Formats: sequence, C-alpha cells, structure tokens
Amino acid sequence: MNTIKSLKISISGVRGVVGESLTPQLLVDFAQAFGTYVRSGRIVIGRDTRPSGEMVRNAVVGGLLATGCEVVDVGVCPVPTIQLAVERLAAAGGIAITASHNPEQWNALKFIRSDGIFLNSYQAEELLEVYHQGQFRMASARGLGRVRFDPTAADAHIQAVLDLVDADAIRAARIRVALDCCNGAGSEVTPRLLDALGCQVHAINVTPDGRFPHPPEPVPDNLGQLAEAVKQSGAQVGFAQDADADRLALVDENGHPPGEDYTLALACDFLAPRHDGPIVVNLSASRMIDDIAKKHGRRCIRTPIGEVNVAERMKREGGSCGGEGNGGVIVPALHYCRDSLIGIAVILQSLAESREPLTSLMQRFPAYHIVKSKIEVPSDRIPHALKHVVDAHEGEDLDLTDGVKINWPDSWLHVRRSNTEPVIRVIAEAPTPDRAQRLCDEALAQIAAAG
Ligand code: MG
Repeated sequence: MNTIKSLKISISGVRGVVGESLTPQLLVDFAQAFGTYVRSGRIVIGRDTRPSGEMVRNAVVGGLLATGCEVVDVGVCPVPTIQLAVERLAAAGGIAITASHNPEQWNALKFIRSDGIFLNSYQAEELLEVYHQGQFRMASARGLGRVRFDPTAADAHIQAVLDLVDADAIRAARIRVALDCCNGAGSEVTPRLLDALGCQVHAINVTPDGRFPHPPEPVPDNLGQLAEAVKQSGAQVGFAQDADADRLALVDENGHPPGEDYTLALACDFLAPRHDGPIVVNLSASRMIDDIAKKHGRRCIRTPIGEVNVAERMKREGGSCGGEGNGGVIVPALHYCRDSLIGIAVILQSLAESREPLTSLMQRFPAYHIVKSKIEVPSDRIPHALKHVVDAHEGEDLDLTDGVKINWPDSWLHVRRSNTEPVIRVIAEAPTPDRAQRLCDEALAQIAAAG
C-alpha cells in the first residue's frame, strides 16, 4: 500500500498505517494544530490497546505541550470513557488515539470538543485549516504545558453507568454473560462493570495487548468465538465490542448473532418509555426504531450518518435515546456519545426486569432484513452516480439529507458516499432477505450504469 493511499485526512480525523504514513512528524503537527485550535488549556488524551498507541501518544503529547496545553492522560480506555473524562475534568478538548474497527496496523486521532462530542464537520474543517496553514502556537520555555496521568477515568465511567441504571435489580438477577472485547480498549473496564452488576461472566479476548484475534468490527461474521462462548457457558447474552468500545453487538442465548441493529432497538425499546423526548438515529438505522418510537408515542428523528450528527441533533431536540444502527447506543442522560458500557447496562436491566430471554425481547418488534453493500467509485464520479440513482426513483418518497434514501411503505434503500473510503455505500431493508437483496442489487446496477 502506498503512503498516499494509507493516509486519510478527513473531517473524521487523521488515520494512517504505522510504519508507512502515520509518522511522528504528522502526529506532532496535528497535535500542535489542535492545541492551537483550542487556544491551549487542558486536553484529555487516551488510547486503545494497539501496540502503536505508545508511539502515537508520545508524539501527540509533545505537540500539545509545545503549544502550552496541559495534558491529562487517562491511559488505555474506551473512547466513550475519554469523552466522559473531557467533560468531567472540564477540559478544553480531547484526543482519542484509536483506529476503532480498522485492522491492527492502523491508528488514528479523533478530536473531541469540550462537551465530549467529536468535532462537527464545520469545526473539523477549521482544524484542518489550522493544520494546513502550519502557523502553530508556540509556548515559551516557561510557558510549556505539563502532562499528568489520571488513572480514575474508568472508575468514573463505571460509577456513572451504575448511577443511571437499577444496579440492585440487575445484581439480583445474577445474569450469565459471555463477553468478547477483541483484546481492545474494553478489555479491563468491561469485566469490572459486569462484576459490579453481579453478572456471572465468561470472558474471552480480554488481554489488552491490541492483538486482535478476529477482525475488530462487531458484525455477525466476526462473532463466531463469542457464539461458541455463549453456548459453552450457557450464557443468557453475549456482548462484543469493537477495538475502542463504542460499538456493541449481541449474541442471543442460542448462540445466534441477530445483527448490530438489535443493540440499538433493544436499548431504545427500554429507554424510550423512561425518558422524555424523541428518539434520534441516523438514516441507515433499522425501521425497527420507527416501530419502537410509534409504540411508545415518541417521534423518530433521522440524521445524516456519523456520531456527531446524531449527538448534536439529540442535544438540540432533547432526545430520550438513540444512536447508530451499527451498535452505537447513545443515552443522553449519561452523555452524547456512543457508549457500549451504558448499552450493556441497559440491556442487562431490560433482561433483569422482564425475566424473559433475549430472543423474546427481540420478538417484541417486527423483524426486517438489512443488506449492506458497497461499490468503489472514483471520488469525482460519486455525485454523478448518486444523481443517476435519484433520477431512477423520480417521483418516489426521497430523502436527500445524506446521499439519497428512498422510502416505501415496507422497505427502504439508502445510497450514500462513505465518509471514510472512496466508495458508495448501499443499504436496503425489507421484510424479506430476497427483497432487501434485490433493492441493493438494483441500486448497484444503477451506479454501475452511470459509468
Ligand atoms: Mg469504534
């Protein structure tokens, strides 16, 4: 892979391959740009378990200190733990060092603002402008920042989660749980949370060394080990996280992974009747969420893809709950961040209160089938290809807030430009797998025909 191809500088942050494009010089520059952008002040940093984390961390600390920032390093912990620490420590911002579900050789910086939410696209553009101009704030010898280590972030996160749920009810249920942290950032804090909730835990892949035993994206194809662990241990539920522990996927009591959309659906079905306000999710989240909103008399608001888009809308609208269909549960009562730990606690409370198996809870709403696909299209051809799809569906119920989404009474199709790769993503949901596949195939053919 060449250096240009393995480096991605975008509004989602900066990502690259260690040993190729993600150089210390680049990291120092970005840290200086961020220190300049936030005009110094306190910055919280933390990282996932990737072995490259230490190199990245040291480069980032150097850049931040040089701009006069005070650095608080919360060490190896989930991204939502870092986001929570930014708020709790009244910091000016934060940097999460993680490439999330990307393979081991990748690492990345994600930039967090003072309210714990990631920079939105406008703010990210401003930061990129500072980076490209290269006029960084330079502290004098006496004005350089200091760095200190804060080991309390995980404890604070666990406590905040325990305070939000009925921990006694969950403890009394003595729930049997299987857990797969993929040797990622959740490896230490998640077993501790489950312990505090009185669960009987069968944990696999909880060595925080960043050596991923399977691809770290928690999609059904990667959950074989967890499914096995559920069956072996007789667990009532299996939980899987990605490498930075913001996303959560489930395996049911029969060892079957229902797909990440069920994480969000179960969480919203539990939370919506308990908190005022609409449910806020992105355009690609399952229609199950609309059904759940209707059932509880709530509005369902749809936003463009991306955690920050959901989070900002949720904050503005006073949302009760929501997130992203890829297993990203957001509970505003805790913070406006995708958080697997609060997701776990909410689903455990749901199991404890209902005294029903997970499969019964999932049968409370209609089942749909989602098919996800993507097609490589050169960046400059993407608008033309999207227009081709729009034209093919002229006169139908179209939503153009992020690519094009076509809504039918029992199904939908969403075709959009990826935020991270030169591809067009195609997602369809329908009552049957055949119909979802057909919608997807038709869209792929339309894109191909656009030339
Ligand atoms: Mg992630």
